[in-house]
Formats: sequence, C-alpha cells, structure tokens
Amino acid sequence: MNQTMWDAVDQYISDRLVQADPALDAALQASADAGLPPINVAPNQGKLLHLFALMCGAKRILEIGTLGGYSSIWLARALPANGKLITLEYEPHHAEVAKANIVKAGLSQKVEVRVGAALDSLAQLAEEKIEPFDLIFIDADKPNNPHYLAWALKFAHVGTVIIGDNVVRNGAVIDPSNPDPAIQGTRQLFDDLASNSKLTATALQTVGSKGYDGFAIAIVQQL
Ligand code: SAM
Repeated sequence: MNQTMWDAVDQYISDRLVQADPALDAALQASADAGLPPINVAPNQGKLLHLFALMCGAKRILEIGTLGGYSSIWLARALPANGKLITLEYEPHHAEVAKANIVKAGLSQKVEVRVGAALDSLAQLAEEKIEPFDLIFIDADKPNNPHYLAWALKFAHVGTVIIGDNVVRNGAVIDPSNPDPAIQGTRQLFDDLASNSKLTATALQTVGSKGYDGFAIAIVQQL
C-alpha cells in the first residue's frame, strides 16, 4: 500500500459517492489560484463532515480553521434554512478567499467568517454569550488543540459533536518524545479527551489523498 494506491482509492470513492459540486470544485480552484496551501480536507472527508452534521441534525456549527472555506461549505450544506456556521481564521488572505468562495456557493446567509487568532475570536464569542453549537470542527494550529477543546466544551450542549482533524500525523502522535508542538498539542488533546468524564470519544486513522492521518470524534454527554 502506498500513496499512489491511496490516491486512486480516494478518487474511486469520490467518483462514486461524492456528487460533483461546481461550488466546491471552484472553491478548491480559487484557493489554489490564490496560493493557499492544499491542506483542506479531501472531498470524501468533506462529505464525511457533511454526513456527521446531518447525523446530529446540526443547526449551529463552529469551525476553527477556515483556510479557503472548503470544509465550511461542506458543513454548511448540511444546515437547515435557518442554520448558522461560524468559522474562525487567522490569516486575512485565507479569510478573504473563503468569503468569496462562500458567496459563490450561495451560503453567505448561513456562514460567518471571523478573522483573527481563534483564541481571541473564541473569547469574543463567549463575551457575546453565543448560543451553544451542535457540531464543532477543530482544524487550525495543532499546538492549540487542547485550548480549542476546552473552548469547545464551553460552547457545547449535551449531544454536541466535537471533531478534530490531523490527529495521527503519519503516526507521529504515538511518540511522547517528539518535540513538535503540533504533536505535543495533539497528544494533550488525546489526554484531555481521555480524562474528561463528560464526553466520550474515539479516533480513526485515515489514509488517502491527504496521506496518513486521522480524525478524533467526541460527543458531550454531560455539562
Ligand atoms: N478546515 C479547512 C478545510 O478543510 O478546508 C482547512 C483548515 S487548515 C488545515 C488550517 C487553517 O487554520 C489555516 O487556514 C490557518 O491559517 C488557520 N489557523 C492557523 N492558526 C490559527 C489560529 N491561531 N487561529 C485561527 N486560525 C488559524
């Protein structure tokens, strides 16, 4: 098994199960044209996020880490007419590209992009006494993963689904001596998920066009 095979199987899955969507394809193209790094979720992963949002009947979604809005569009497409997604992005250029992609996807009424360091935006949301979210997708700077989980719990209700991306990182996550702050942040995320009796969680390894990585998923069971 190698990357060529993983790419081919991802293509097979996407060809069969991920409907062609001009707005999503255009978002990827516009992101590439604008020089954004190709670190968005893969199409079949985007569809998985969409399915998670449908499974939990999400009406309110929080995303930490927007990039060009690719995963935002997938998630927002699962919202009902009165649904809302707030997505947090540090880089103004990424946020501008995302906003344009979201407008082109016809989702500007449902999606709000907030620009700034996510920890500041999260504190601002708390200040605004924002209503809880049904699904929270954490996909920004990995060293801050434990802080994002702590904030996610503040914005949760019983039943809120919390998803974290890139939690395997080529297997590096199992090495306690790895000095990479992204690995340390992800390992702390696992520890925090494990030790928190108010939620139940697991993680899945994934291979595909984005290499070898994984998702963590948790459901809040008590506040
Ligand atoms: N969720 C996106 C998708 O799948 O289409 C990909 C997000 S990308 C992996 C991570 C994003 O988080 C980047 O656009 C990066 O600029 C942003 N980011 C990094 N540090 C951040 C921070 N402290 N606050 C908010 N966003 C941050």
